[in-house]
Formats: sequence, structure tokens, C-alpha cells
Amino acid sequence: MRESEAVALPPTTDTIAAIATAPGTGAVGVVRVSGPGAHAVADAVFRPASGVMPSSLGPGRVTFGRVAAGGEVVDEALLLTFRAPSSYTGQDAVELQTHGGPAVLRRVLELCLEAGARAAGPGEFTLRAFLNGKLDLAQAEAVLDLVNASSEAARRNAAGGLTGELSRLIGEVQTAVTTAYAEVQAGFDYPDEGVPEARLKEPLERALRGIDDLLATAEAGRLSRDGARLALLGRPNVGKSSLLNALLGYQRSLVSDVPGTTRDYLEAPLVLAGVPLTLVDTAGIRATTDALEASGVDLTHAIAAASDLRVLLLDSSRPLGPEDRALLRAFGNDENGRGTVVVASKTDLYPAWEPSDLGDGHDVINVSALTGAGLGELRRVLTDRLVGAAAGLELWVGNERHLQALRRARESVSAALHGSDELAALDLQDALGHLAAITGREGVAEETLASIFARFCVGK
Ligand code: GDP
Repeated sequence: MRESEAVALPPTTDTIAAIATAPGTGAVGVVRVSGPGAHAVADAVFRPASGVMPSSLGPGRVTFGRVAAGGEVVDEALLLTFRAPSSYTGQDAVELQTHGGPAVLRRVLELCLEAGARAAGPGEFTLRAFLNGKLDLAQAEAVLDLVNASSEAARRNAAGGLTGELSRLIGEVQTAVTTAYAEVQAGFDYPDEGVPEARLKEPLERALRGIDDLLATAEAGRLSRDGARLALLGRPNVGKSSLLNALLGYQRSLVSDVPGTTRDYLEAPLVLAGVPLTLVDTAGIRATTDALEASGVDLTHAIAAASDLRVLLLDSSRPLGPEDRALLRAFGNDENGRGTVVVASKTDLYPAWEPSDLGDGHDVINVSALTGAGLGELRRVLTDRLVGAAAGLELWVGNERHLQALRRARESVSAALHGSDELAALDLQDALGHLAAITGREGVAEETLASIFARFCVGK
């Protein structure tokens, strides 16, 4: 469903069912049922080996039996029973675990629907959890991010959101803003004196620090979700392919001592500081005829421009040539994206030049792909360029909706800090509104909720 179509929330008091496991075959598959009729649905489709009907079972039970209807046995199954409010959704719920074949799961779901459940739409279980107060909105969104996380950092951030770490940090900012708001309110009672400046300044500055700490992780959060491109630049034979292999820890690239052997550029995935990177080796972008060579140079520039970060290799064992100097001029002081890291390669060999030969203050990292010397330092510098100070923080905020709310809250807090007392009350109310929108306990438009939950998969 496209987000623009999702305007209304589905009903939340009927009984819904969905296959909760991924499409395809698996050892185990799960069909989830939630709502007041969940146990009645289980009575209709499940035959417990013990003979005790599901609706008579206590909560938090696992029961072995069969999914069956009439004379038809669909599969052996485990039934998990939950009673409101102690379930994911906060409603009465059951889960049927069967073998994970698509035909089995489709049939189990069909029987649940025949027994009176409605087929759940995307995110309906988590929507119910949110509306029943089991999760706040930031946590519900973290469920989505967790399911979609493809890198360790994205998973860690989503887990931080789910366990309420983000909500806790937002809560600290809210406390600071509320303290300031109370001061402003108290000031209205003594209009002649006004609010002593210091009593507003401390909590508001604390709130700004809290917001800024979260905003400072925005880029790292985005990178951990979307990934980044890192291009290896340098003239032929400087050791780009060898460095790529050394960073990857396995042989990905064709290495040869004939210049220009790799005819094409290569891409390989690597995770650094939790950020999924695509390493682009431009080794092959050079060919034998002048025309092709020119187009190779264009391609190198295009790849360099399209990457978030560049590593420029200069062979330390050979004198610097005009081509090295041209690359250094083009990319060495480059402010584009996260800039260029200059590497002196093959430092296990006798050096033909010194970093000072490069002229004005280039930071050079000495690396030998052969011995591995300097690789750790290179990884550290790349990590720093990619995520900076966020590397040491537990939680990165990558959710655009949260970031926007934080930026707006920052504007309002800053306005309260620098404006008049009369307007401060309004500014602080605005700030509290923006912060509350992140956890979504109140005042979040139905369309916003609908568009958030429409991005979930069915069964979540
Ligand atoms: P590319 O053309 O820039 O990709 O360079 P390659 O990675 O193909 O390396 C060119 C040559 O340099 C090969 O013979 C490599 O074995 C050699 N080489 C690469 N890195 C090192 C290194 O760190 N030390 C030494 N001694 N030789 C290296």
C-alpha cells in the first residue's frame, strides 16, 4: 500500500489473523490471531492432544495438538495462548506453530478466517499493541526498523528504540522543558518580578544539549540504514585491489602486476563501524587507447563524486608521478562528502618519498596490504570520517520523523531561551508537542499513524 492511500486506521476491536512468518518454506511457521474471539477461533481449528479446549486453557500455555477442520487434518501444531492484557497486542491472542510450508500456513489461516477472524492488514498487530499502551510510537517504529535491519548498527539502533532507550532520552529532554515551563508559569503569578533568567537558562540549556546529542547521531543513523559508498582511487598498480582484499579479509579482486589488468571497476560489501559500505575499486578504469583512457578518467571522477568517502592510494615505493600529483590535486583536499583519506601504500618496501613531499599538510596513513601494517589505523580513520563522535554512542537516530520532530523542538526551545517571557510559554508548549509526537502518547494525527503502520508487513 502506498503511504498516500493510507488515511484511516482499521478497526481494532474485532479478531484478526495473519501468517506471521516470512513467505517460503521454513522449519516452523506461525499464524497469529488477536482479538476478543481469538480463543473461539482456536477452539474451532485446534484439537489439543489433551482434549482440553483452548478456551479452557490458562494464559501463557503451550499445548500440543493438531490443526484440523471436520475430518481434515492440516498439520500437527503447538498452540500458544495469551490472555489480555498479557500479550503482544494487549488483547486475547493465540499463536499456532505448524510446519513452515506455504500450503500448510495458507490452509491454517483459511481455517481461522472461516472460524470468524478477519485477515489482518500490514502492521495491525503492532498498531493494537500501540493503541493498548504496550508500546509507544517510537517503540512501534523500532519494531519496523528491527525487522528491516540489515546491518548490526541498524539492528542495535532499532533494539535501542524498542527497549525504550530513545523514549527515555526524549523523556529527559521533556523533563527539562517541563521544568522551564513550570518556571514560566510561576512567573505569571508574579508579573512584576518576571522569571529569573538563570532559572530558565539551566533547564533550557540542558534540553538543548539533550536534543543536540540526539541530532548529532543523525548522519550515522542514516548511514547505518542506507549504507555508504567508499571509492578506492589511485593510478594503476598502486595496490588498490590488494587493499580492497585486505580490508575485506578475503580475495575479491583480481590482483596483477601488469598495469591496467582489472578492466572494470569492482564493488564489494564491507561493514565498518556498523555501517554497511560498498567498496568500489576503480583499478580497472584505465584502458590502452587514449580515448578509452580519457573516458576512464571521467568514470573515475564520476565514481569519486558519487561516493560518500574516498581513499586515494599513492605507491610509497615509487617516485610520485604526474598522475599521482593530478589525483592528489583533484581529490587530496576534497571537501566533498566526507572527504578523501590519503594512503601511502606498500610501506613494507623501501620508501621513494616522504609525506612532506606531498606539500601542504596532507595527513597520510601508511599501509601495507601485504603485511597488514596500518590497516587498523586506516579503519579507525575511516570510521571517524563516517560516523564521527557517534561511534561511541549507544543509539543513533535515523528515523526521519523523529529527526524532524527533534529539529522543531530545538527551534522552539531555542526561541524560548532567547525570546520574551510571554512568548516563552507558547514556545515551550510547542516544544513539548514536538517531543510528544515522537513517542506518540497523544496528539498524533490518525493519518500519521496509518502511514507509519502501513509500512509494516502483514502479520507484524
Ligand atoms: P591496483 O592496480 O592498484 O589494483 O594494484 P594491485 O593491488 O593489483 O597491486 C599491484 C602490485 O603491487 C601487485 O604485484 C601487488 O602484489 C603489489 N602490492 C600491492 N600491495 C602491496 C603491498 O602492500 N606491499 C607490496 N610489497 N606489494 C604490494
